[in-house]
Amino acid sequence: MTASEIREKYLKFFEAKGHKRIPSASLIPENDPTVLFTTAGMHPLVPYLLGEKHPLGKKICNSQKCIRTGDIDDVGDNTHGTFFEMLGNWSLGDYFKKEAIEWSFEFLIKELKIPIERLAFSVFMGEPENNIPRDEEAALIWQGLGVKPERIAYLGREDNWWGPAGATGPCGPDTEMFYWVSPPAGGEPAPEKFDPQDKRWVEIWNNVFMQYSKNVEGKFEELSQKNVDTGMGLERTAMVLQGKNNVYDTELFVPILNKIAEISGRPYLGNEKPFRVIADHIKASAFILADGLVPSNTERGYVLRRLIRRAIRYGKLLAIEKEFASKVAKIVVEMYENVYPELKENQDFILSELQKEEEKFSTCLDRGLKEFEKINKPIISGEEVFNLYQNYGFPLEITREIAKEKGKEIDEKGFEIELKKHQELSRTASAGQFKSGLADNSEATTKYHTATHLLLASLRQVLGGDVQQRGSNITSERIRFDFNFERKLTGEEIKKVEDLVNEQIKMALPVVCCEMETKKALEGGAMGVFGHKYPEKVKIYSAGDFSKEICAGPHIENTSELGLFKIIKEEASSAGVRRIKAILQ
Ligand code: ATP
Ligand code: MG
Repeated sequence: MTASEIREKYLKFFEAKGHKRIPSASLIPENDPTVLFTTAGMHPLVPYLLGEKHPLGKKICNSQKCIRTGDIDDVGDNTHGTFFEMLGNWSLGDYFKKEAIEWSFEFLIKELKIPIERLAFSVFMGEPENNIPRDEEAALIWQGLGVKPERIAYLGREDNWWGPAGATGPCGPDTEMFYWVSPPAGGEPAPEKFDPQDKRWVEIWNNVFMQYSKNVEGKFEELSQKNVDTGMGLERTAMVLQGKNNVYDTELFVPILNKIAEISGRPYLGNEKPFRVIADHIKASAFILADGLVPSNTERGYVLRRLIRRAIRYGKLLAIEKEFASKVAKIVVEMYENVYPELKENQDFILSELQKEEEKFSTCLDRGLKEFEKINKPIISGEEVFNLYQNYGFPLEITREIAKEKGKEIDEKGFEIELKKHQELSRTASAGQFKSGLADNSEATTKYHTATHLLLASLRQVLGGDVQQRGSNITSERIRFDFNFERKLTGEEIKKVEDLVNEQIKMALPVVCCEMETKKALEGGAMGVFGHKYPEKVKIYSAGDFSKEICAGPHIENTSELGLFKIIKEEASSAGVRRIKAILQ
């Protein structure tokens, strides 16, 4: 079964069970500063998992593009990419454990025709100290479907518990499904007993049951709206159904590997690691570029830069002399354009950004490698690492990796100190940001959401109707808002925008929500985010007659709650895009 067939089968199956299909959200999360990229299908659905009403109802499914930079060191193994697709089905306070597990089982056995003998399952082992029982409920449902008790493992918080992302909020146990992979394909039968430590059991699907809410005292209370959040990895599912033991042997990678072989003149076999890293990183980069990000030295842009540069450095290991990243990316566009049309739509941009980045880095890489050779000590100092970073554009992990290959160590602490000194410490460096999390739904953040709508409407009045949102990032302390505009705003324009927002606040406009078909909403003048794909039905939030936007919410009820709006910064974000930072006082 091809990946395309699996994707479609999955979505059709859950549609037949009453789910509504929604498009994949952007890889770049809107309004959520807790993560850099969309790491799971649940991520864009957070407001609904927290209780907002979804316009398409209580049962949703989709195929979501995901980026997990936290998995970057695993790339090259058989089952992890920084980019992958997650098939997901959600219950927003509708069905719970029984249906979720039964449907997962039905899909695996009946639709994908996986023999039950090759499957194993894990459930939560419980935490008596927190009054959370062992998840016998889930185990019994699996057993009722014919799963043998030896094939069910009880695991702890590390493996079978999700959330809360912050200190408090929804959380709960999960149950995971594993497939016995043993090369040669279909060869060895699976062992009677499930040993979760054995890497030949590959996790393919996870069902999270948001059953509890952790309160401020650290106690777990049963939630009134219980949700189900599931995620099935498309690459891994294709792999097991095609009798392969690694995702790179599926059609989701083979054409890319072939291209790398053609360019490098070397075979994949024997060169697996560099081939796999290049294939994964260029694919991830192409998808990120398609969602409008450019390589830079801060935050998300720096993650993208690191992915591209690491791919280029692996190209060097294959002795590729000519520019190659865009050639590889072209194959990615061809492979995925039918499912993710944004790739084709942005092909020129994707390829030219890759070319530019490769051009920038290639000469630096050669010179930096020479510089590296000069270092004749077992430990590379913080200054030297910083020199490679600053003057040769070596991201830390590239230096770390080359050092390791040469049996050297690097002084990472010393590097951090140097970096701080030069005030370039991007937030990217903090690993915490790679973890997925629930957006902060505090009152302060909610106010900023509403203020953002007023800001966009004001910008359009002052600067013209061509202005559209190009991205936003909201914390409980400020708004950061990107929009298309060709030049710097004048002081007068900034003042006008500020005044206009404050007028709306003074007028105490009611903020109301309604639901409608996306087409009607856009025809009726509701604003959406540029390039964003919306489901067929959406929520519209309006503030009086002043602003009307497609948005998941939540929002405050009246603009009078906002206080005083102030723009604290206006700057360039990228070519043709301006960035405003604003606060409420
Ligand atoms: P693992 O323990 O194997 O890293 P996980 O527990 O991190 O997996 P989940 O967060 O439960 O995975 O994600 C749901 C599904 O997404 C997994 O069952 C798997 O099929 C897929 N998946 C997760 N991470 C990756 C990845 N880096 N590359 C490809 N598929 C992935
Ligand atoms: Mg993982």
